[in-house]
Amino acid sequence: LRNSGLGKSTLVNTLFKSQVSRRSAGWARDEKIPKTIEIKAVSHVLEEGGVKMKLTVVDTPGFGDQINNDNCWEPISKYINEQYEKFLKEEVNITRKKRIPDTRVHCCIYFITPTGHSLRSLDIEFMKRLSHSVNIIPVIAKSDTMTIEERLEFKQRVRKELEMGGIEVYPQKEFDEDMEDKSDNDKIREAMPFAVVGSDKEYQVNGKRVLGRKTAWGIVEVENPNHCEFAQLRDFLIRSHLQDLKEVTHNIHYETYRAKRLNENGGLHPITCNDTQESNL
Ligand code: GDP
Repeated sequence: LRNSGLGKSTLVNTLFKSQVSRRSAGWARDEKIPKTIEIKAVSHVLEEGGVKMKLTVVDTPGFGDQINNDNCWEPISKYINEQYEKFLKEEVNITRKKRIPDTRVHCCIYFITPTGHSLRSLDIEFMKRLSHSVNIIPVIAKSDTMTIEERLEFKQRVRKELEMGGIEVYPQKEFDEDMEDKSDNDKIREAMPFAVVGSDKEYQVNGKRVLGRKTAWGIVEVENPNHCEFAQLRDFLIRSHLQDLKEVTHNIHYETYRAKRLNENGGLHPITCNDTQESNL
């Protein structure tokens, strides 16, 4: 997320279009949050290695678009916590479902404006505040607007600024499980933030149809690793790290929320106040 016009919707479409087999489940839910931003969730069914999975994308049109962006992360933070709260309520329910419907946000892709300068204070502030409740994956939006040198430099600067700000994005060092995990994740941390390009248009390149952006000087192929890092982001998100994103969400972020919530209430009682009498036994 971050600002309209950064290519969020396009990238989401790219993500689904770039899948060999895809089926759209249409709109899942539409939640309105007062004034500043609207939060929209769309579910798609993806097939990966013969396994079907439902992927829900929550979009936040207009984030950071206000004249005054103070606290503009609040509705997003609220949304994330509401999903934890829903899950917690189900979990503490005595007549607990076998499989609790999971609407928790497993990862937040943060779109950085390709300025070539520094992160904005809003970017830093957002990631600082949210990195303790959700897995943040920063990406450089519309990276075809930068030269190779600019992109490299910008990526380096962003990593430095995140480090100076004490911001731990996903995959967080402290959660590496073993040496192999560490060495895989180090490679990702060194390559972050992925510089992406999105498009839902197809063009013919060397006899193959590819997703790309046609410019006066040629076609930017979104899935070509020599052109941008979209393919790396996709593989990371829905192949190599999908399960880990879920685990870190459950074991770390949700656990933090849960502990805090149960502490402040001195136990489970007030959370279950909306439940039926039977489950309040
Ligand atoms: P959103 O408001 O963040 O959802 O942005 P959109 O996906 O609607 O894109 C806004 C505009 O940017 C559209 O004209 C897109 O065609 C264009 N756009 C989207 N992705 C890219 C990209 O990777 N590179 C470039 N140069 N333009 C893009």
